[in-house]
Amino acid sequence: MTIHADDAQLRRHLRDAEVPALLMTVAHLTGDTSILRDDLLSDGWLFLPQGGLTARQREEARALAAGVLARLRDGAPVPPLDARMLRRITSWALGMDTADLVPLLAEEIVPLGADPKAPGWNRYDLPGARDVEVAVVGAGMSGLLAAYRLKQAGVPVVVYEKNSDVGGTWLENTYPGCRVDVASQLYSYSFAQRADWPQHFSTRDGLWQYFADFAKQHGLYEHIRFDTEVRAAAWDEPAGRWRLTLDTPDGARTVTSTVLVAAVGQLNRPHVPDIPGRDEFAGPAFHSARWDHSVDLAGRRVAVVGTGASAVQFIPEIAKTAGELCIFQRTPPWLRPTPNYHQPVAGGLRWLHEHLPYYAAWYRFWLLAPGLHRVLDGWVVDRDHPPTERAISAVNDALRATLTGYMRGQLAGRPDLEPFVIPAYPVGAKRVLRDNGAWIATLKREHVRLVGERIERITPKGIRTADGVEHPADVIVYGTGFAASEFLAPMTVTGRGGVDLHRSWNGDARAYLGLTVPGFPNLFCCYGPNTNLAGHGGSIIYMSECGVTYLLDAVRHLLGAPHRAVEVRREVFDAFNVEVDAANAERAWGFSKVGGWFINRAGRSAQNWPFPAQEYWRRTRRFNPAEYLHLP
Ligand code: NAP
Repeated sequence: MTIHADDAQLRRHLRDAEVPALLMTVAHLTGDTSILRDDLLSDGWLFLPQGGLTARQREEARALAAGVLARLRDGAPVPPLDARMLRRITSWALGMDTADLVPLLAEEIVPLGADPKAPGWNRYDLPGARDVEVAVVGAGMSGLLAAYRLKQAGVPVVVYEKNSDVGGTWLENTYPGCRVDVASQLYSYSFAQRADWPQHFSTRDGLWQYFADFAKQHGLYEHIRFDTEVRAAAWDEPAGRWRLTLDTPDGARTVTSTVLVAAVGQLNRPHVPDIPGRDEFAGPAFHSARWDHSVDLAGRRVAVVGTGASAVQFIPEIAKTAGELCIFQRTPPWLRPTPNYHQPVAGGLRWLHEHLPYYAAWYRFWLLAPGLHRVLDGWVVDRDHPPTERAISAVNDALRATLTGYMRGQLAGRPDLEPFVIPAYPVGAKRVLRDNGAWIATLKREHVRLVGERIERITPKGIRTADGVEHPADVIVYGTGFAASEFLAPMTVTGRGGVDLHRSWNGDARAYLGLTVPGFPNLFCCYGPNTNLAGHGGSIIYMSECGVTYLLDAVRHLLGAPHRAVEVRREVFDAFNVEVDAANAERAWGFSKVGGWFINRAGRSAQNWPFPAQEYWRRTRRFNPAEYLHLP
């Protein structure tokens, strides 16, 4: 290992380091864990950058690291990272014994560009492999991932995409201020990490480019049929194949495939509430995910319905030019402090990612760490607490106190806003949003009004609330979210015996591991039911990588099997759902009556994965044929 920086340069770069990741890197590079001192850890790291370390702790840690790295500079070999060392370093960071996590972590702490989760087999090397082709619906984040892995394994794959380009939600959402609220290093493929992310939290354009570049670089565009919507998919029992009805630019077509992967996303079909009078509004009105850029908001009276993740991003942006802004809020969001939310990655931090071996891997681990451990603790109901709509456990109550203090601290001069800003439901019952102060600062602006009154009707000239007040508006923007519960809609999916998937789900989608459904052979979902994370582990890309590992193992099984199809056994599926439902009922979102997209109209969470992220990793490592019927 050679570090190309003199002492002064090194110290300068280290000023921008994320300190806990730096200490772990140094321990790894030297094989000496003495730098992992308990007094260089803080308890408050859960929601805080720099692990909640004080300035003095950071200073001391950087000086220690600089000294060690300066001695290492010229050519010291990097000692192997064995299981013992991995466990020692990560146990320090997480404050728990990580013995169980070592196999997962071994896949994470790798040099940039390494791909330990690659299939490791190729169809052409499997003697006597039968023909298996895969049709993927959707070329968003998970569809591209599935296509890439299948291509790596030499399995023929065709992707059908209704849009004209890749990127899914990152293609469709173009609202002002759109960016991801998961750190860039985590909201990207583990095997296609960038050392040079310009932003801590990528902008929409930056992320879309990442997916487009990924698809180009790996020749995925050639596998994608754009402007092609899969209207229907039906299992053809005698043929043992899926028959897909496509809407293409040249009209309707039918194709077939052995395996069907539904990578259609959860959060992409806009939900515009059916408010009385909605169609009578005289001005322009649009949903955040279908932003009408032809409408100039400058100087105009803009009404926004909703204060979820999307609205909290676009409202501060449009407030910069709108004449008046009236925000209709039903339920306020909890906000977590994220000072670097809109900041570019500082030069020193970028240098560390690019030049200090393994720093990028430890940095990513540090981002993943809360999800592997403590975040979920805050969402678990303690029946002895006892749980209420205020808090569901002592840990949850402490989180409430921390976040309330953080939010209240921003209300100086506007205490009247407090009842509208501090939520009355437990932290975690809805998605906790990232914040750098922009949201409350916007609410405090003179031309901005937050209305907590229920909307009664939309009129030609504005919005009337239940108190009879008419709020005039020139434009209405709906930040009202997505039809998240309607998995795989509007595609018609017909399984064995002519069973309709949507009719059998009846608005309450379920799938074994979020992937497979009884009666629907060789169908696999990506980001399917119960695979969403409520901030407790990695990102949905992490979960999708796990699901795709399972898919590949299932395809490998089919290539060598005497049967043509697999279908999850009803009892396996049922037992899984009982387990997931029981756990979800004991989480903040399952306990609270606040509602939102974590809960479907049956009152059940068909969205969330209630266990730690590593549990999904563990359960998806291998496809277990014993859990499946084998169809001739
Ligand atoms: P959302 O979180 O579901 O928020 C919808 C908002 O509209 C809520 O405030 C909701 O109020 C309100 N609403 C819905 N129906 C209404 C009605 N009939 N009358 C009045 N208000 C109504 O949707 P979103 O903001 O688009 O975000 C959805 C998810 O997409 C996020 O949670 C996140 O997972 C993802 N997302 C991510 C990012 C990112 O990474 N940066 C950005 C945007 C979205 P209630 O709360 O009372 O229901």
